[in-house]
Amino acid sequence: MPVRVAFRRDEQGHSPQAEPWRGWYNLKRWKDLRLRVFERDLFTCQCGCARIECDTSDLVCDHIEPHRGDPALFWSEANLQTLTKACHDGWKQRLERQRRLAP
Ligand SMILES: [Zn+2]
Repeated sequence: MPVRVAFRRDEQGHSPQAEPWRGWYNLKRWKDLRLRVFERDLFTCQCGCARIECDTSDLVCDHIEPHRGDPALFWSEANLQTLTKACHDGWKQRLERQRRLAP
């Protein structure tokens, strides 16, 4: 009989063990890539507000197309854009909520 492993789920119903990509955000490879994207975008928010944020802790390296665990999308520099934290938390979440609500 195969042993069944029960995954602990968080409040969103995600199972951290089943989503190894969550750990990718802690890798040096991601931190280097993230900095490269910020430099490429000249630390300027890509949402259209054109805000420049020199403090990288206030910048988000955002996946344009949600990677959903796909390493190719996750690590693609072309799929990444610089957003300020404020803009990311604002319009991006609004956008994703709209997308979820869309029929
Ligand atoms: Zn912005």
